Amino acid sequence: MFADIVGRENCMTDAAALRVYECDALTGTRVRPAAVVLPANTDEVAACVKRAREHNMAIVPRGSGTGLSGGALPIEGAVVIGTSRMRSILEVDFENQRMRVQPGVINLDISRYLAPHGYYYAPDPSSQSVCSIGGNVAENSGGAHCLKYGFTINHVLALTLVLASGEIVTIGGDSPDPLGYDLISAVVGSEGLLGIVTEVTVRFLRVPQATRTLFATFPSTDEAGEAVSQIIAAGMVPAAIEMMDKLAIEAIVAATHVDWPLDAGAALLMDVDGTTEEVAECADAASEILQRCGAIEIRRPRDDRERQLMWTGRKGAFAAMGRISPNYYVQDGVIPRSDIAPVLREIAELSHESGFRVANVFHAGDGNLHPLVLYDARSGDEAQRAEHVAAEILRICLRHGGSITGEHGVGADKSAYLGEMFGEPDLETMHLVRCAFDSTRTFNPTKVFPSPRLCGDRVGAH
Ligand SMILES: Cc1cc2nc3c(=O)[nH]c(=O)nc-3n(C[C@H](O)[C@H](O)[C@H](O)COP(=O)(O)OP(=O)(O)OC[C@H]3O[C@@H](n4cnc5c(N)ncnc54)[C@H](O)[C@@H]3O)c2cc1C
Repeated sequence: MFADIVGRENCMTDAAALRVYECDALTGTRVRPAAVVLPANTDEVAACVKRAREHNMAIVPRGSGTGLSGGALPIEGAVVIGTSRMRSILEVDFENQRMRVQPGVINLDISRYLAPHGYYYAPDPSSQSVCSIGGNVAENSGGAHCLKYGFTINHVLALTLVLASGEIVTIGGDSPDPLGYDLISAVVGSEGLLGIVTEVTVRFLRVPQATRTLFATFPSTDEAGEAVSQIIAAGMVPAAIEMMDKLAIEAIVAATHVDWPLDAGAALLMDVDGTTEEVAECADAASEILQRCGAIEIRRPRDDRERQLMWTGRKGAFAAMGRISPNYYVQDGVIPRSDIAPVLREIAELSHESGFRVANVFHAGDGNLHPLVLYDARSGDEAQRAEHVAAEILRICLRHGGSITGEHGVGADKSAYLGEMFGEPDLETMHLVRCAFDSTRTFNPTKVFPSPRLCGDRVGAH
């Protein structure tokens, strides 16, 4: 059905090929789509969208499939439109520090391309070596260094989007504050519900003159959480502050070559960057606070190799869970930074009561938790009960004034909880925005919103 548009080799309909696309990184849920197509450019995407509409097929946009909320999970009878052949850097403007890329370009490849020129792309999800920039836009992805530099939304200047009609539109522009409504903000973080992003203009930054890394261990997450609050309260904005609890340290040490102490109750990994003078001053001031808050030990990597090793340990933390558990469920919630210690205590109580081990490794500076609920899918209904524990963690976040997602999105996984955070009028307003772009609900129709909603439905009518 799509072979005449993308070529037979880029159109998959047989069961074996489709298996690869049955899920994203939320691997517990799988659905086989009707077809997967891999277009090469905006025009091919537009032609595929028109063809799908002619056949009344839903469309699931897909980047690298590393999403953790089932955003790229196929829908029965739908066509998955993947961007893995759209990996070209289209234009680079060093003078104005911006570049236009296709959506399938891998996040880290942008920084690799820019590195010889002294620049980099700031948002750095831990999956950055595999996730696509289109997926980052759809999820408004964050990362360790987004504390200082902001999420994807702060780095996108313009987007080309294929709408459900097949129409191609460009939003945003070269000027920093384009006229009209800020449609970039509507599309970034919209989880593939508004259209398929086919080109992205991002801004890039100069590599800071100096970066210093601190690794500090603490008796427990209480002291580590307090240190995070105090560092920010002192007016410092480190580039990154990441926290790992005892179980996370155990998994990372088992999986990588870091020599972190296994008897520590928690650890903070922190980057400060800027000018050489600024960095020296900030690192000294932060070290003082870490010590005052009860740090057992503060390490500074001896060289760049050791620094990279520390960050490889942190960024590989999810995968490292495989060393201590057959399966894990990644939760993603946000809390006020000042509540880190009490929330982690509540999660520990929940873990104790439920019998499920929970490891915590997260963007502490942003208050963006990633509790990992460890379970064994081979054992009875453990998978289901682990999900239940993960849901309770979200409710703890909400009780503390937080949110059900920091960066992984709502997707298919958390649509049931959106109603616990927003009232009907809020959901209706969000839905109206969606309908303004896609009144046919062609893209990701079953995702994000709690129940099927039709464009034109009135609040409370059902
Ligand atoms: C080990 C690991 C670590 C991670 N760490 C982080 C982290 O630190 N920070 C973070 O934010 N996330 C993290 N993630 C989650 C994930 O990598 C991000 O959400 C990422 O942005 C997804 O990109 P992707 O290309 O894999 O998108 P996919 O998973 O393919 O898709 C994600 C969503 O985007 C939509 N989409 C994809 N491409 C397009 C497009 N071109 N147009 C419109 N919609 C599109 C899909 O429909 C789906 O809803 C992590 C994941 C893993 C597995």
